[in-house]
Amino acid sequence: MSADLYDLAIVGAGPAGLAAALEAHAQGLRTLVIDEQRAAGGQIFRQPPTEFDEPVRSPVGYPWAADLLADAAGATGVDWWFETTVFGVLDARSTGRDDFEVLVTGTQGSRRAHARRLLVATGAYDMPVAIPGWTMPGVLMAGAAQGLLKAQHVRAAGPVVLAGSHPLMLIVAAQLVRSGADVAEVVFARGLPSLRELFLAAPAVPGHVRLLAELAGCVLTLVRHGVRITTSAVPTAIIGDGGVTGIRLAKADRAWRVRGPEREVPARTVVLGYGFQASTELARQLGCPVRWDSAAGGWLVEVDGNFETGVPGVFVAGEPTGVSGAEQSRAEGAAAAAAIAAGLGRPVGAVRARAIERDLRRSRRFAAVVQRMFAPERPGLTALATPATTVCRCEAIPRSDVDGFLEANRHADTVDAVKLSCRTGMGPCQGRYCETTVAGAVAAARGGTVSDAGRFAAQLPVKPVSLQTYADLFDAD
Ligand SMILES: Cc1cc2nc3c(=O)[nH]c(=O)nc-3n(C[C@H](O)[C@H](O)[C@H](O)COP(=O)(O)OP(=O)(O)OC[C@H]3O[C@@H](n4cnc5c(N)ncnc54)[C@H](O)[C@@H]3O)c2cc1C
Repeated sequence: MSADLYDLAIVGAGPAGLAAALEAHAQGLRTLVIDEQRAAGGQIFRQPPTEFDEPVRSPVGYPWAADLLADAAGATGVDWWFETTVFGVLDARSTGRDDFEVLVTGTQGSRRAHARRLLVATGAYDMPVAIPGWTMPGVLMAGAAQGLLKAQHVRAAGPVVLAGSHPLMLIVAAQLVRSGADVAEVVFARGLPSLRELFLAAPAVPGHVRLLAELAGCVLTLVRHGVRITTSAVPTAIIGDGGVTGIRLAKADRAWRVRGPEREVPARTVVLGYGFQASTELARQLGCPVRWDSAAGGWLVEVDGNFETGVPGVFVAGEPTGVSGAEQSRAEGAAAAAAIAAGLGRPVGAVRARAIERDLRRSRRFAAVVQRMFAPERPGLTALATPATTVCRCEAIPRSDVDGFLEANRHADTVDAVKLSCRTGMGPCQGRYCETTVAGAVAAARGGTVSDAGRFAAQLPVKPVSLQTYADLFDAD
């Protein structure tokens, strides 16, 4: 075997990537993990920089996090490339070789890695929702507000209002309160759960009592600090001129459509938390087939029982197969690595295989309940963007441009058609921020669904890189 050839390259060092790396390493696979962050942990287990000299902390409800991070730190047989972005992967169709060529750029320069198998464990993003004023300084996504707090100890300026639909908002609001921030209100788009919903949620309880108790603790913290918790309401505008001064809220119906009078709440920071969208662009760039599941994170990569995609040798684990929480990401990472190891002639033992299967079953029950209870009402969210609302923030394109194009071109019914004319999705984020809003606009105009509008093509490079990177990697070819 060539010294430069890895058995397995893993993109992403969150719970999925870390569990996979440890499993693969235990089976003797030569393993490389690449992540653009400075250290292992992914979104949920993100830690302050080492310069802060703090002990590793497990977040709310995940007591196993510190052990996972310690095991990863001790896995010196694994190669770790941090502060390194994977901007594309080439397979046999473009290289003629039978391994994968992973193209990266980062603090160590631009390089290629070769691997016999690829595991994409790239996680998810905060789901962007375009409402009037959402691009103003002082508006954050829930994950970003939390990231600032836990990784940099920077708390959002108060008064803070959180608006959205995902239970992560309760955790973030409580974390902000505990850090001393002035949190005024948490606004949920959905109503209180019915008794029937609570009954149907019962399968999520076994094995998750501690997580649920910690969530209840977050609610208690908010109540004790006088934070108002509102249900069945949506933000209709974020107010301010160059910075947030308030938020306008209105009563909403079950489909999150505005159905009541508006009220204004003073705020210096608005945190939006409508859930997550799976990060699938790398898998899509490789040609992996995807499917639409609105509740589970939008476009998801299709995988078989071994977490292998439609492209042989490419596996996906964690949020790109469905946004299901850290526990399921960890379980999927371990299961995918076990399958990869078996395929390379190094199967895990029967006891370990059963444990992996048990973890998967348990975490799936929990994830299914969360997804069902907090599924986004996409048409209602799309309707929050007024004609003047910026839809594509990279190219500064308002909703009226998209609607005007759709009005003038009755045959156009996909997000790619809108992109070609309006430039939505052509900026550095390549549509990560605007795709769902544009798809919602197409669906509203044509009377179809968001999935009917399709998705932007994912092309190399999937993340912005300099021309120098291309010159470094391809000049010699
Ligand atoms: C900002 C944010 C905060 C969250 N906070 C919580 C929380 O408090 N509680 C909770 O239950 N859930 C939270 N979640 C949901 C959480 O993402 C999952 O539960 C869990 O972290 C998923 O694990 P994962 O391994 O699938 O993905 P992640 O943990 O997202 O890990 C993916 C990793 O892949 C890396 N990556 C992605 N693309 C590339 C690339 N092209 N090149 C190199 N590296 C790449 C990322 O840097 C990241 O480290 C959060 C999600 C986000 C987006």
